[in-house]
Amino acid sequence: MNRVVLKPKRDWSVRKHHPWIFSGAIAFGEAGVGETVEVVSAEGEMLGYGSFSPASQIRVRMLSFDPQRVPDGAYVAELVAQAISRRAAFFAPESTTNACRVINAESDGLPGVVADYYDGYVVCQLTSAGAEHWKQTVVHALMKGVPGAKGVAERTDVDVRAKEGLLSHAETQRRGGVAGFGVLAGEEPPELIEIREGDIRYFVDVRNGHKTGFYLDQRDARSAVGALAKDREVLNCFCYTGGFGLAAAAGGAKHVTQVDISHDALELAKKNEELTLGEGRMTEDGRRFGYVEADVFHYLRKCRDEGRTFDLVVLDPPKFAATKSQVEKAARGYKDINLLAMKLLKPNGILATFSCSGAMTSELFDKVLAEAAVDAHRDFQMIGRTRQGADHPVALNFSEGLYLKGVIMRRMA
Ligand code: SAH
Repeated sequence: MNRVVLKPKRDWSVRKHHPWIFSGAIAFGEAGVGETVEVVSAEGEMLGYGSFSPASQIRVRMLSFDPQRVPDGAYVAELVAQAISRRAAFFAPESTTNACRVINAESDGLPGVVADYYDGYVVCQLTSAGAEHWKQTVVHALMKGVPGAKGVAERTDVDVRAKEGLLSHAETQRRGGVAGFGVLAGEEPPELIEIREGDIRYFVDVRNGHKTGFYLDQRDARSAVGALAKDREVLNCFCYTGGFGLAAAAGGAKHVTQVDISHDALELAKKNEELTLGEGRMTEDGRRFGYVEADVFHYLRKCRDEGRTFDLVVLDPPKFAATKSQVEKAARGYKDINLLAMKLLKPNGILATFSCSGAMTSELFDKVLAEAAVDAHRDFQMIGRTRQGADHPVALNFSEGLYLKGVIMRRMA
């Protein structure tokens, strides 16, 4: 087995079981793409084993912090089995959903491996060289371990794979950044998979949708918003396939305006409305849903200029900051939309606002929101916080794993 030797004093993060070793921490040591290496301190002490990624800044991702435990196929399969067993409640007959994240990468001990479950079908995203190396083992263990697994498929993100040296430059160019999809085992999933989340039904497009098709990570937040929505006029910004809006309607909202820039997402949101509420209830007391294909930055200004107001606004934008260097620009974006949304709220109106940028800390997000409130000349009280659901756990030694933060607040009369 090849060996990677760390520079003096660069072993502390591995000793704290942080899974990433950056290229700058390595004195010497080479290996092939995704190969398992021994990780050794400058003094020669064995610290564990990781997967080597020659093209990435994150040169090694730790698989085992135990020098006695060499990661082989059986070890990786066992990690998959453990991840599945930790989600037992989601697979139980009394579960209120048939969709969850089954493997959450580093935080389940499997760097770069994401696996989402949608009513029998598992969709993986393998985003590191090590994850690719162990692909067959992971797929086999998923088919074996996920209760009632019908098939395992893969969504590939070309940009990430290029970064990990898993695609040639030519290949990256040729594919033009388009996501790929392939069946790895078992049955091919249908064009749309139907899932449920409590009373709500969604179609998930695992081939063309975002991430693996659905924002499973917002499950708890959708339910929190639903519980606050009774009799409210709701504006759901960045609605994707309708999640927060459907949750609000199920919670008794008077009317929901769903806004997204993506035509395809809105089309699916409409289908989800029909699927959840049925033709009859949908038209019971006039249409309960409006759909707007627009840039939220513009639409909020339009609402402001027209003097429109709402009782509940949801802001769940895409990632504004991918890296630390983009945080400042991202903060301006968050401040802009939150300030505008605050101005649209009636007295006692509720703002449910989210950031899924890992680089944006919870503290900084709070600060941005507080500044936005001052500039909007409004007073708010915080009434709740949300985060990614329990099927998206965060290993305590891997704070990077906490990316999704939500704040629910009320405008004081
Ligand atoms: N709330 C959703 C997930 C939102 S994902 C859920 O619970 O499922 C972010 C969404 O923002 C995507 O659907 C994307 O199409 C949309 N989006 C990105 N930039 C936008 C913009 N400037 N204006 C409107 N929508 C945008």
